[in-house]
Amino acid sequence: MDLIVRQARRRGDTAPCDIGVEGGTIVAVEPGIAGRAAREIDASGRLVTPPLVNPHVHLDKARLGEVMRPNASQTLQEAIAITWDFKRAYTETGVVERAGAVLEMAVREGTLAVRAFADVDTVGGLRPVRGLLAARARYGRLVRMDVVAFPQEGILRDPGTEALLREAMALGADVVGGLPWYELTDEDARRHVDIVFDIARERNADVHMLVDDTDDANSRSLEYLAVKTLREGYAGRVSASHCGALAAYNASYAAKVIGLVREAGITIVSNPHISLVLAGRRDVEPVRRGITRVRELLRAGVNVASGQDDVDDPYYPFGRASQLEVALFMAHTAHLTYPDELDTVFDMVTTNAARALRLPRYGLERGDAGDLLVWDASSIKEALTRQRPPAHVVRGGAVVARTTVTSELVAGIGDP
Ligand SMILES: [Zn+2]
Repeated sequence: MDLIVRQARRRGDTAPCDIGVEGGTIVAVEPGIAGRAAREIDASGRLVTPPLVNPHVHLDKARLGEVMRPNASQTLQEAIAITWDFKRAYTETGVVERAGAVLEMAVREGTLAVRAFADVDTVGGLRPVRGLLAARARYGRLVRMDVVAFPQEGILRDPGTEALLREAMALGADVVGGLPWYELTDEDARRHVDIVFDIARERNADVHMLVDDTDDANSRSLEYLAVKTLREGYAGRVSASHCGALAAYNASYAAKVIGLVREAGITIVSNPHISLVLAGRRDVEPVRRGITRVRELLRAGVNVASGQDDVDDPYYPFGRASQLEVALFMAHTAHLTYPDELDTVFDMVTTNAARALRLPRYGLERGDAGDLLVWDASSIKEALTRQRPPAHVVRGGAVVARTTVTSELVAGIGDP
């Protein structure tokens, strides 16, 4: 065997087990695997999980925060305008460098699959998508990456984008993106959704839209997206991020939309860090938390995942590309803090996100991919609390990242 992780504690198991990996696949999960492997890791009863998955991140704009002018109004509109200045000057190599820095950070934090949005519009053209495709190739050994062709300036609002989206898919983008709520009228928003589905069908590609990213209860594109998904036979192949307006709908309409979302098998991706700083800005009191109806969606049986969304760019100044941190934020913002709910927030950055990305062989059973994390913690609660990167990040049976944290009190309590 290539690798044996000894004394691993999987979630839900009462006793530790050994996990053996060969040829990139988990081939044994047993109390004690006989013989030696080329490499062995002693987990000593610590938690071992499948890798973290980030279903939503903008790697093309990541780290513009270091060079941009300040977002004085703190609005989404100004963030978009600041980004225009950069998009006009983007180079493919610049995008690869900035994306690569975040991907390396993410791998060290245990994320081995990301869905990255590349702006496709008449401002930056196809440079962001070319850059992310190049980053996907360069970092393929470390991390699986979906590239989403994403119309950040709208499709009808930015004539020429529809053709660019088709070109981006032909270049090798994996998923068709969308931003229907950003169009100027409800009718245009529906037309936007129709165009995205036309392109998705042509390519047999999945769809991931940023939906109703506003506090405005009149923004109703999620309802149409769900109906369209059902009518196109696309159930299970569509994700919708943000959906802040869903939180502002009256309870009856929200219940109707949530029912449709569930029926359509849409994954809702909520990005707590960014929604917390961007949403609710016009509220006096009560100030909203900005995230969608996460608890209600979960209760209704909808697949809900969480993403990092932005890493140091005009939208958000922080971001460690740590899905463990995203899970901690989700626990706080969605009030998911009881013991079984901690498992739920961890599911949202692992199994639920993997389901949205339709990752094959994801898990820790025989036959699953040889991808796993050995945490410096014995439980989900401890991992969430300590917020340390995994001690070992394993991809395809090989250790691709390792973290050791040392910290000590050097003064005794009796010292001055
Ligand atoms: Zn986003």
